[in-house]
Amino acid sequence: MTTPLTVTRIGHSCHLVGFGATRVLTDPWFTTTATYYPGEPVASTVAALGHVDAVVVSHDHYDHCDLDALVDGGFDLGTPLLGPGTVTPIAAAKGFRDVRTIEAWQSEDVGDLTVTATPGRHGVHEVTFVIQAGGRTVFFGGDSLRIPEQDEIPRRFGAIDLALLPTNGLCIRPMNLQQVVMNAEQAAELAAVLRPALAIPHHYAFTSGRLGDRLITKSDRDPRHFAEAAARLAPGVAVRLVTPGTAVRLP
Ligand SMILES: [Zn+2]
Repeated sequence: MTTPLTVTRIGHSCHLVGFGATRVLTDPWFTTTATYYPGEPVASTVAALGHVDAVVVSHDHYDHCDLDALVDGGFDLGTPLLGPGTVTPIAAAKGFRDVRTIEAWQSEDVGDLTVTATPGRHGVHEVTFVIQAGGRTVFFGGDSLRIPEQDEIPRRFGAIDLALLPTNGLCIRPMNLQQVVMNAEQAAELAAVLRPALAIPHHYAFTSGRLGDRLITKSDRDPRHFAEAAARLAPGVAVRLVTPGTAVRLP
């Protein structure tokens, strides 16, 4: 008998993943700035999240590491926060009292949870995560590129129930359109490697604003491109496009 697995996307790459009553918050982002808009409703305030058992943060960009929002929202700063060495000192400086640094292939246990950092790559240092509890396994790829090192993940972890995958293929215009996030096609390739029971795309609605989209970022904002690519490249993998706030319960 495996633990019930649920996931609710709050917005962007921020999800609440529930392994039974144990809840993990991924890549918190709750606010906006002049050049960062979620591009979709944010489904919860920090105060409305309720109890969270662990926070995982993939890298130190604002749209994944909005720790100020957690602090300002009265989040319990005793909650374990796990991330790479570029994130945990920031969290500690903001008052988080239980920060755990994990780099690729390192694990930490938090109660019934085991969180393992897995390989990632982005404009700054980033890890992805495999989060496990109660016989369930979830892959979380914040806004990483698709890299060959990720092929090792299914060999180490076996069956994956749920993969949360970025899909917007973000390119940075002032950096010669350098790509920093996997695109829909590459996310579908990764889904074919991970073979999760369910894949949910994220990190696509975000915009830099009318000016920012012209001058700073270029991205694919349509998650149906991932669904189409996955149907072609990972035909055994179910895909669900999830609007923020919709609770998904896995079989
Ligand atoms: Zn991002």
